[in-house]
Amino acid sequence: MRLIIMGPPGAGKGTQSSRIAERYGIPAIATGDIFRANVKEGTPLGQEAQRYMDAGDYVPDSVTNAMVRDRLTQDDAQDGFLLDGYPRTLAQVDELDGMLKDAGAELDAVVVLTVDAEELVTRLVKRAEQDARSDDTEDVIRHRQDVYREQTAPLIDVYAERGLLVTVDGMGAVDDVSARVRSALDDVKP
Ligand code: AMP
Repeated sequence: MRLIIMGPPGAGKGTQSSRIAERYGIPAIATGDIFRANVKEGTPLGQEAQRYMDAGDYVPDSVTNAMVRDRLTQDDAQDGFLLDGYPRTLAQVDELDGMLKDAGAELDAVVVLTVDAEELVTRLVKRAEQDARSDDTEDVIRHRQDVYREQTAPLIDVYAERGLLVTVDGMGAVDDVSARVRSALDDVKP
């Protein structure tokens, strides 16, 4: 299966991704996690990405695209993958299309988790207390929601037009959301 999971910050993408990835035996590739690991290790990529992440802005497409292209050529991603947090801009959609074309592969589905705006802020404030992520302060949380609305939400229409969209209600208990995702994906044939 070649899947994308989308949704605003706080929608529960990370939690659901690991469950989906385990079920299909595919790697969950989260660009935010890769960036954070690079920041922690102080690599040149991390140094480049950090200032954008701390401000709640997107890391430039050129940097992000190169990183994903490299990741998708690794062995474990040859038979399938779940992308979490990529693509996030229309330019990244084009770039991913190119990567898949080069590999002779196609996407099977794009899962979109929907969650009320108020619930998103509540969840992110809670995560800020638990994880101490440097981009989970209130101002940055709000800014990240705006950036998502402006730059990433339009991607939903693009994938809807391609007939790839699987919309799942992301409200409520984690296990309930997982069950919804599972049954929605049961209808998707790889
Ligand atoms: P996330 O963990 O998915 O919320 O991502 C955390 C941060 O990493 C984002 O706010 C961006 O600064 C950066 N990031 C992650 N994925 C992307 C992407 N596809 N394009 C640009 N920036 C990204």
